[in-house]
Amino acid sequence: MFRKFLDALRRFMYGRYGADQLYFALIIIFFVLSVVNSFIDSIIIAVIQIAIFIWAMCRYLSKNIYKRREENRKFLGIWQKFKGFFTYARDKFRDRKVCRYRKCKHCHAALRLPIKKGKNSVKCPRCGKSFKVNIWI
Ligand SMILES: [Zn+2]
Repeated sequence: MFRKFLDALRRFMYGRYGADQLYFALIIIFFVLSVVNSFIDSIIIAVIQIAIFIWAMCRYLSKNIYKRREENRKFLGIWQKFKGFFTYARDKFRDRKVCRYRKCKHCHAALRLPIKKGKNSVKCPRCGKSFKVNIWI
């Protein structure tokens, strides 16, 4: 009986997209909204929750694998920028007694500089151009 059910499920899922990072992100957002909505009890959040769940399920069961992969790739690009922003902020805070972070004026690379108060000349290791930075504290 159980084996028959598993075979039927396997046949049903054949050629379908399944789960990916965007799917898990949507499910996490769905559960976070569930918790939030248990306190607020808003109809708007409930509608958003249902829309997110339907979107996640449609993606999971979709047979257009190429399009779902593209969506996931875009999501991962946005996620990397989001994550990079917080990683940079965390590193700046963690190293606040040892060094200062500045962006290169030419290529916008993050530079980790020792604390030397005053105006300093810095050479960017990525683009090789020199520029002045001012470290006050
Ligand atoms: Zn540079």
